[in-house]
Amino acid sequence: MPASLSTEPLDILQEVFGYTAFRGHQAAIVEQVIAGGDALVLMPTGGGKSLCYQIPAIARHRAGQGVAVVVSPLIALMQDQVGALEEAGVHAAFLNSSLDLEGVQHVERELLSGRLVLLYAAPERITHPRFLAMLDSLYERGKLSLFAIDEAHCVSQWGHDFREDYLQLGLLAERYPGVPRVALTATADALTREDMVSRLALQEARTYLSSFDRPNIRYTIVEKDNARQQLLRFLQDEHPGEAGIVYCQSRKKVEDTADWLCEQGVTALPYHAGLDAEVRRRHQDRFLREDGLVMVATVAFGMGIDKPDVRFVAHLDLPKNIEGYYQETGRAGRDGEPAQAWMSYGLADVVNQRRMIDESTAEDDFKRLQRGKLDALLALCESLDCRRVRLLQYFGEERPEGWRCMNCDNCLEPPARWDATEAARMALSCIYRCHQHSGFGFGTAHLIDVLRGQSTEKTRQRGHEALSTWGIGRELSEAQWRGVIRQLIALGHVRSEGEYNTLALAESARAVLRGEVKIELREPKAPTPRGRRTRGGAGTARSLPQAVATLDADGLVRFNALKAWRAEVAREHNLPAYIVFTDATLRQMAEQAPASLDDLGQVSGVGAKKLEAYGRQILRVLEELPG
Ligand code: ADP
Ligand code: ZN
Repeated sequence: MPASLSTEPLDILQEVFGYTAFRGHQAAIVEQVIAGGDALVLMPTGGGKSLCYQIPAIARHRAGQGVAVVVSPLIALMQDQVGALEEAGVHAAFLNSSLDLEGVQHVERELLSGRLVLLYAAPERITHPRFLAMLDSLYERGKLSLFAIDEAHCVSQWGHDFREDYLQLGLLAERYPGVPRVALTATADALTREDMVSRLALQEARTYLSSFDRPNIRYTIVEKDNARQQLLRFLQDEHPGEAGIVYCQSRKKVEDTADWLCEQGVTALPYHAGLDAEVRRRHQDRFLREDGLVMVATVAFGMGIDKPDVRFVAHLDLPKNIEGYYQETGRAGRDGEPAQAWMSYGLADVVNQRRMIDESTAEDDFKRLQRGKLDALLALCESLDCRRVRLLQYFGEERPEGWRCMNCDNCLEPPARWDATEAARMALSCIYRCHQHSGFGFGTAHLIDVLRGQSTEKTRQRGHEALSTWGIGRELSEAQWRGVIRQLIALGHVRSEGEYNTLALAESARAVLRGEVKIELREPKAPTPRGRRTRGGAGTARSLPQAVATLDADGLVRFNALKAWRAEVAREHNLPAYIVFTDATLRQMAEQAPASLDDLGQVSGVGAKKLEAYGRQILRVLEELPG
């Protein structure tokens, strides 16, 4: 590279990546690493971890300090990053099991020649003697600029992603003293952090801990009421033609839901561990490359999915715990544009998850831990106040009393509450009476019939119409009663047992019966007519995807034309569309309608190389539009 290229981080950010400013701790981290220091970076998904080592790598390469080695466990992610860097004019390569011998030799030549700025490699490669010998030779010549260890939590046995190979990475510190090392992760609990520091020898590293808030994600949890229809309405009203993930618990439900969505005209694909590896690969590939695909999946899908323009993550079933929920929903909106986390939640979810824990063969201690985690998740679902406050609190981040995010369902549309204390007492005594009378327990449906005085074959046969609790709850609707019982189970006052989900009182029910526990519930919503209240904009007859809702009619025409052009380029270059330009960048182009290369260069995400490669084409696309 010519010597005239700037080694200033901000210049590189603007020239290579086309961004105007650093976010959060990025600037400090970049400075630390360029200066030769170590760093431990804890940042949520989408926080912008890649630039934290890419910019130091470019700066140090320009200063003649050689190549940066990036350790990453995820093959798909490596390929994407290398593709994106090459698009931005930065010479990068990867070494992993997807390469044949010739490919490997080519990369090794590039590495030793000093032309390479970044090399991505799987952990098992790095510690291979042959590879270490190459690193030794680079090190002796002062051509090893830095090590970045991505997904650094994989070194910890506490996490769910533990990788044996990561343990070896500790040797880099000893073998290459003076080469700065930066470890990055989106997992931040204290135990994992300690492991990273000790196992990767980061005692001297500076730690950069970011807030784990994802302000661009809107959280919504709705009460289940024909979940499929609710999902379809959500997709059609709020995310038409946009990419997203729908999580289901079982493989069968994944397949059924994907089929059903396709019948409804939504382009959806299934993904779960039971599918052929080849089918999985193909579906994942289509999800990454095509615009607006919906992936219906079990939790087997997601690790390493680096797609920045996932506009929503929907849960049709309750996740295991808040960690799982946060990780899964965190795959939405990595590009910082508006995105949604949507979940439908109902009585059956509570019952199923409780039962899965009860019936598992795990140790009691482990079960207790899992129950505690489930309780926290249920509290989030039942919560009547800001969801974000609850989530962040769970991760140890406190917000001031009364703080509201204004980007979750409860903040945007505070739910009407009703005092269900009396109703809860009625339900508990009804459970008690039925059991006492018959000698065994009953399920929710029957219980609600008794409470509401709805005569059925069963209520007559069992003689429950003579009970003192018969019909004491006529004033409440069935939906309200379901809510009461769900809440009682969620709070642990009632247990749901056995094959028939019969209800039984737990020890803590006494306090509720004595009126010592106040129970507040969300007023069940009347079924909402289709097409209501999308983003509040009066007069929007047709729904727009949330991400482009700010565009006027002309802007939208420009946006769609740019998207079509981008799809074309992506196909030609065999790249995912977002690597050509992100949605955010296209939206800004559509908004500003640049008429010259200079104007276009001002748009965030348009670096020098992309301006040169695509600038004229884009201007032509915009010029050729009618009107
Ligand atoms: P992470 O690895 O932390 O999940 P990424 O490094 O993939 O996040 O970054 C997420 C998105 O944010 C990418 O599209 C990236 O280009 C963008 N981004 C990162 N830093 C900035 C910045 N300073 N200005 C604008 N966009 C940024
Ligand atoms: Zn909120």
